[in-house]
Amino acid sequence: MNVASPPESNWLDEISPAIRDAATSGIVEVFNYGRGRQGLIPLWVGEGDLPTPAFISEAAKASLDRGETFYTAQRGIPDLREAIAAYMTRVYGAAPGGLAFSPESFFVTIGGMHAIEIATRLVAGPGAEALIPSPAWPNFVGALETGGARPVPVPLDRTGRWSLDPAKLAAAVTPATRAIFFNSPANPTGFIATREEIAATLELARRHNLWIIADEIYGRVTYDGTRAPSFHDVMAPDDKIMFVQTLSKNWAMTGFRVGWLEAPRALGPAIENLVQFTTSGVPVFTQRAAIAALTDGEAFLKSQIERWRRSRDILCEGLRATGRVRFFEPEAAFYLFCAVDGFEDSRALAFRLIDEAGVGPAPGAAFGPGGDGHLRLCFARDPAEIEEATRRMARWLKA
Ligand code: PMP
Repeated sequence: MNVASPPESNWLDEISPAIRDAATSGIVEVFNYGRGRQGLIPLWVGEGDLPTPAFISEAAKASLDRGETFYTAQRGIPDLREAIAAYMTRVYGAAPGGLAFSPESFFVTIGGMHAIEIATRLVAGPGAEALIPSPAWPNFVGALETGGARPVPVPLDRTGRWSLDPAKLAAAVTPATRAIFFNSPANPTGFIATREEIAATLELARRHNLWIIADEIYGRVTYDGTRAPSFHDVMAPDDKIMFVQTLSKNWAMTGFRVGWLEAPRALGPAIENLVQFTTSGVPVFTQRAAIAALTDGEAFLKSQIERWRRSRDILCEGLRATGRVRFFEPEAAFYLFCAVDGFEDSRALAFRLIDEAGVGPAPGAAFGPGGDGHLRLCFARDPAEIEEATRRMARWLKA
């Protein structure tokens, strides 16, 4: 036996404190508790129930068949970076300054999460603070904490909708603040920042010389037929903004792990380094699949949004009818973030719904300050299944 080894219980003291002390995801805790239960309807994780469509998977298979199984360009294959630029021009009109988007601004990553990780490493090192309008997806906090930076939650307001008070954001800025994580449309609240809220945030960032990390991955998942307002609509070419994007949700590709970071092209060498020292690149066959999705995926995205809209309407109507569930109807993304009268402890409520109603929600407490007392229900599933989940919850609430 190696005498230097610590006792089993102390192993975690042997690793970097920033990693040891990072909070664990409250979504994973509930998921681990309820997974594998017979007949349970899982609404806890943020993904749909449809497999990747064939036209996308076929592109991956063809790539493998061609033998594209080698190390690859750290910034992503040129064909994908061009496809992203063309897609962005199609959806957002023009890049800041009125130019077409350039492939040089795009860096392919292992999903949106890796883009967040890279952006965080670039601008929020040990000792830095970053502002996060909250409740928020917990992985922003995780990326900061594991890198030794400090997340600073800034509460969203409830003004008939989730909204952001720029004065609250401004009040949270300190000399250590380096960045604002800005997720709109937001997971879990469905908050869609207005153009004015976005402009005010940009103004604040300019004033204090902060970076904005704009997570706009749900920008196209809206229920009014448009895309959500974006920092692209208000920024100048030299603003300090990085954008997080992913193929995961729009094209049912969570398992492919492919997304991108949009950043000032001058950061290319630094980003290339971070890719090299973390993943050493994104598999080529998933990048080929991404090209198929971006180029030929509009009809599929439209059909997904229609399906999610039906599921949203069923869930909202059914829960509203109970008279005990309060929420702002989500106009974007695919989460209902709701408060249930009489239940303050969202973790306990989530466990009870798993055990007693056969429905698996994510507890609001997992999303930081302002989240407890709520549940997040992902409705990106078959409307018939959402109808059954709604019925179960309504019945449970009546009992
Ligand atoms: N940002 C937000 C707001 C998300 O909800 C998610 C996934 N839940 C991601 C980023 C990351 O997505 P992925 O890594 O699967 O591409």
